[in-house]
Amino acid sequence: LPNHTAVVSHIAIDIGGSLAKLVYFSREAHSTEPGGRLNFQSFETDHIDDCLEFMRKLKRRYQRANGANSPPASELCVMATGGGAYKFYDKIREVLGVDVLREDEMECLIIGLDFFINEIPREVFTYSEEQPMQFVEPGDNVYPYLLVNIGSGVSFLKVSGPREYERVGGTSLGGGTLWGLLSLLTGARTFDEMLDLASQGDNSNVDMLVGDIYGTDYGKIGLKSTTIASSFGKVFRKKRQAENEAEDSGGLGQKELHLQRQQQSQTQNGVHTPPLLDEDMEPQEPQLSGFVSKDPSRPFSSADISRSLLYAISNNIGQIAYLQSQIHSLSHIYFGGSFIRGHTQTMNTLSYAIKFWSKGAKQAYFLRHEGYLGAVGAFLKRQP
Ligand code: ADP
Repeated sequence: LPNHTAVVSHIAIDIGGSLAKLVYFSREAHSTEPGGRLNFQSFETDHIDDCLEFMRKLKRRYQRANGANSPPASELCVMATGGGAYKFYDKIREVLGVDVLREDEMECLIIGLDFFINEIPREVFTYSEEQPMQFVEPGDNVYPYLLVNIGSGVSFLKVSGPREYERVGGTSLGGGTLWGLLSLLTGARTFDEMLDLASQGDNSNVDMLVGDIYGTDYGKIGLKSTTIASSFGKVFRKKRQAENEAEDSGGLGQKELHLQRQQQSQTQNGVHTPPLLDEDMEPQEPQLSGFVSKDPSRPFSSADISRSLLYAISNNIGQIAYLQSQIHSLSHIYFGGSFIRGHTQTMNTLSYAIKFWSKGAKQAYFLRHEGYLGAVGAFLKRQP
């Protein structure tokens, strides 16, 4: 909650498949200065009750500041967007006891982005390994552009002018995919733990690189030896090799390991564990580096797996973004959505993909408040 003397008058919430993003305006109660501040807060959509409780406290603060008999015109204004604005509509109204204004999700995204691009200094930036975070100050010639919003899934929006947009594509391989698969494949319990793992991993232990196939680079078609030829492409062979070695050295063979795993999975707490989960992994203790499973058939570290999957998802989105920008003749590409989370490898991969495929003709842009485009858009739509 903001400082106890601050009063909140507007709240906007964007409730997506994974996260509920809250933006609210607060100002000091007795301040004679105009203006105030925007506050940002997010909750897992699964914990929507915590989020509503937080909003209820903001509302109480508002009522106290306005007195019990405040006229209805001064009612706290609550805007909602995202799928959850529909799914949880009755619940929000019930808990808060106020009317809720629903706004279109895509429209809010671009209103929010336009605001950040045009009005907020030190918000939009470009990213590369050599020049991390170069801010781009508000300027002219903003349109047309491509917005790639990477949330649970991914949407590609072509924006031709203020409030003029079209959703031109999408992919279900997005943030939810990374979050979900890494929860199965590693011991990480939160998204940030996954990003930590990824930042420490070495994907070449898991990915098949051009160099693994050619023994060198493939210069003729512009592929470096470190280019990923196949994400997770080394896993099967390495796993089989490790199993064979274990068998040769008198350990458990492939068949025995398989049987042992099946038995374990059936007996563990009486709960069926899918074979994909490694029974040796301790979900309570995510392994941040150098993890080698006790199971000889799984010589892969959580960090390497995380790095590899982060690259796979980001490269794929970068490639689709480039193709969409080609189809629609757009040279400015903005990346939003909570998936990015300011993570350097994610931004570097997306940025590099755009630069590489466009031969430097197109530019990727990122935002400091990348996850809050929709919430800020909903907030702005009802500003007096
Ligand atoms: P949505 O509107 O679909 O919920 P968001 O833009 O909020 O989409 O992005 C959700 C994605 O952001 C998740 O799927 C995950 O990849 C990533 N993410 C970032 N922070 C978190 C977090 N604290 N918990 C879960 N996922 C997170």
